[in-house]
Amino acid sequence: MRIECIAIGTELLTTRRLDTNSVWLGERLADLGLGFHRKTAVGDSREDLGGLLREALDRSDLILTTGGLGPTFDDFTKELFAEILGVDLVEDAQSRADMLAFYEARKRVPPQVNFKQALIPVGAEPLRNPVGTAPGVWWQDPPGHPGARIVMMPGVPREMKRMWEEHVAPRLAVLAGKAVHTLRMVVSGVPESNLDERTREARERHAHLEWTILASLTQVELLARGSDPAQLAAAQADFEAVLGPDLACVGASNLEDAVLDGLRAKGQTLAAAESMTGGLLASRLTAIPGASQVFLGGATAYTLGAKAALLGLDSAWLATVGTVSEPCAKALAEAARQRLGSTWGLGICGNAGPDAEGDAPVGAVFIAIAGPGGTLVKPHRMGGDRVEVQLRTTALALDLLRRAVAAGTASR
Ligand code: AMP
Ligand code: MG
Repeated sequence: MRIECIAIGTELLTTRRLDTNSVWLGERLADLGLGFHRKTAVGDSREDLGGLLREALDRSDLILTTGGLGPTFDDFTKELFAEILGVDLVEDAQSRADMLAFYEARKRVPPQVNFKQALIPVGAEPLRNPVGTAPGVWWQDPPGHPGARIVMMPGVPREMKRMWEEHVAPRLAVLAGKAVHTLRMVVSGVPESNLDERTREARERHAHLEWTILASLTQVELLARGSDPAQLAAAQADFEAVLGPDLACVGASNLEDAVLDGLRAKGQTLAAAESMTGGLLASRLTAIPGASQVFLGGATAYTLGAKAALLGLDSAWLATVGTVSEPCAKALAEAARQRLGSTWGLGICGNAGPDAEGDAPVGAVFIAIAGPGGTLVKPHRMGGDRVEVQLRTTALALDLLRRAVAAGTASR
C-alpha cells in the first residue's frame, strides 16, 4: 500500500509553524507496520494544492491530508478533492447537528461560514470530530480511483490526533490485517556500529521480528516490530541478557528517565553544576514530570567568576588548574553535592568550541560524578560542532550517572 501524506497550510512553509502532524502520523503508521512513501507540505493555494492532489491520486493508494477543513476562505481541501473527482458536496445532517451542539454547549451561535464544514463530498463518509467543529472525511474508492482511499483530517494537532485514534487507526488496522506491537530499547554508551555487531546473533535468533537501529546524537534505539506480544517479550529478555547494563531503558523511556528512575528506586538525589552544557542536563531532567523528587537543582556556572560565586570554588586556584580540567570538574561535582546535600553531584566542564580555550582543545570535556565511594572524573574528547558537543556531553553525563547510580558507586 503506497501511503502519501499531505500537510496543508501556508504557515507550514515558513518558520512560524512546524509540520508536526506528518511526523506524528508517520509514527502511528509505523505502529501498524505501515509507512509513507512520500510526504509534502503545501500552502493554502488552490493551484498548488489542486495540482498536488491530482498527482497524489495517480501515485498513491492512501492519501492522508491534514488541514484546510476549517470555515475560512483559505480552507478548501474537501472542495478541491470534490472538484477534481467531479462530485458535489452535500450537507451531512449528523455533522450539522454535531456542530450546532458544539456551539450550544458553549452558549454561542455558530457563525454562518461554519455551516460549510458540514458539507461532505457525495460518496464519502464524514468522520466525527469529538473535540472541534470540522468533521474529517473517509473516502473509499473515489470516482476513477477504485481501491484508493482518501482521508482528510483537521490541521489542529489535538483534533487530528483524536480523529486518528477514534476513527482512522481502527480502520487502517483492519486494512493492515494485523495488530503490530513495537519493542523499543534504548542503548547508551555504545556506538552504533558496535551495537550492530553485538546484537547481530540475537537479532538472528528473533528473525521473525522486523528490526531497526536508529542512532541519534545522544542515544541508539533498537526497535523490533511484530504481531505477537509473546515474541517481543522473549526478544526483550534475550536482549537484556546480551546488553546488560548498556541497555538503558525499554518502552517510551529515554536516558533521562533511566537516571531519574534509578535515583527514585534507591531513594537518592542529584545536584548538578554545569559549565559548558549551560544547563542542558538540568533542562533534560526537569522536562520530566516528577523530576523534583530526585533532582534537587544546581547551577549554570559558566564563567570562572560564577564558579567562585555560586559554588565557592577558589578563583586563584581555578586560574591555576584551568576551567577546562579534571580538578575543575571534580570541584564542581563535589561543591554541587555538598551545597545541596544530595547523594550525587555532577560537574561538567569543557570547551564546546569553536575556538581553542587556552590549552583546552575544542571538544575537550571533563565529567565528574561525586557520590558514595568517592568522585570519578571522566575526560573525553567530543567531535562535532558546538551544539553537538554540548548534546553529546549531556548524554554522556546522563549515561555515566545512570551507571553510577545502578552500581551504587561513582568509582570503578
Ligand atoms: P487548519 O485546519 O488548516 O485551519 O489548521 C488549524 C491549525 O492547526 C493552525 O493553527 C495550523 O497552524 C495548525 N496546523 C495545521 N497543519 C498542521 C501541521 N501539519 N502540523 C502542526 N500544526 C498544524
Ligand atoms: Mg489552514
